[in-house]
Amino acid sequence: MLQQTDPKLADMIAREANRQDTEIELIASENYVSKDVLEANGSILTNKYSEWYPGRRYYGGCHIIDEIETLAIDRAKELFGAEHVNVQPLSWSPANMAVYMGLLNPGDKVLGFSLDQWGHLSHGHPMNFSGILYEIIPYFLDKQTEEVDMDELERLAIETKPAMIIAWFSAYSRDLDWKRFREIADKVWAVLMADIAHIAGLIAAWIIENPVPYCDVVTTTTHKTLRWPRGWMIMCKQEHAKAIDRAVFPGLQWGPHENLIAAKAVAFWEALKPEFKDYQIQVVKNAQKLASELQRHGFKIVSWGTDNHLMLVDVFAGFEVTGKQAEHALEIVGLSTNKNMVPYDTRPPMNPSGIRIGTPAATTRWMGEDEMVEIADIFAQTIKNFKDEENLIKQRERVLKLCKQFPING
Ligand SMILES: *Cc1c(COP(=O)(O)O)cnc(C)c1O
Repeated sequence: MLQQTDPKLADMIAREANRQDTEIELIASENYVSKDVLEANGSILTNKYSEWYPGRRYYGGCHIIDEIETLAIDRAKELFGAEHVNVQPLSWSPANMAVYMGLLNPGDKVLGFSLDQWGHLSHGHPMNFSGILYEIIPYFLDKQTEEVDMDELERLAIETKPAMIIAWFSAYSRDLDWKRFREIADKVWAVLMADIAHIAGLIAAWIIENPVPYCDVVTTTTHKTLRWPRGWMIMCKQEHAKAIDRAVFPGLQWGPHENLIAAKAVAFWEALKPEFKDYQIQVVKNAQKLASELQRHGFKIVSWGTDNHLMLVDVFAGFEVTGKQAEHALEIVGLSTNKNMVPYDTRPPMNPSGIRIGTPAATTRWMGEDEMVEIADIFAQTIKNFKDEENLIKQRERVLKLCKQFPING
């Protein structure tokens, strides 16, 4: 239809679809949703205003919308074993700001992971609300193991007495000790919050430990590993439910996007099926295979491996190629990745030492461990000879061949 009424835009969508079809998506935070999720996302539910929550809406005509939102909430509760869920947050800011607003006062101290070691501008950046309104105290990785230094975190917590401790991750490849996080928070009477945007899919499939029982609040994207539509949700203990719901509406947002909430409900349904667990198990197997293959090619992997869906490759350490050069060369051959700082990086954020890669999207295309061997080889040949155009053309052909063999939604 769009092809006839707005060919200009239809052409752009077609070109983007072709880009997605002919590149291997290794950006750890991206994935392909199912056709069912797309259908709900693009449905007529977008027409409806429904401020406030099921059963107490401001506008009339919300009785069916109420059923949809309640269904999404119930499925999310079942998936994560959460006491209370709010599925309305549109993105990172309202979801996480609702936690700060609902449970803290401006100026309160918050212990959060060091920015330069995660390569993300949320929680604590001086230009983000969190850094403007709250005093963020960073904790770090251990320099030797490149894993979270829990003893140092405990020492810092006792010394600074934060109102909240945040566990959050955008490039961390190791499991976390949630029980220890809880013990430290209890010692200093702090709220414990986890932002599981990246690992939520693995948690929903119960293949890595679920932090929901340990935390006061857990926020997550519904996209990324989860393979759900764009958006966020907040899970919390019943005692915080009122404060969180009020902070989302009317504290931060007005009309919820019910088409997205319906798409979340569809995705939660998919995630409750056994195939979802198989998928997430394969995501981790693929990541571990990719990491070991890259190590075989001489690359340094941060923390020497991965327990989840992603890894950070220090491309500068092995081959003196910068993250920016590597990202660019990989894009030419059709491996989509992003540059990322490595722990204690000596290079600047816009041209750091690392490349972050993840396996959720490739695994959705049904690529398995054999394909990871091939991808690791393409990655290595591309980076080791990134200035050789003929080499890049050769690697591009290998990527195209894989894409043809493993179509999206195939
Ligand atoms: C993905 C991510 C964000 C950004 O989320 P949006 O949905 O793009 O708003 C922020 N913080 C963390 C930790 C993330 O993983």
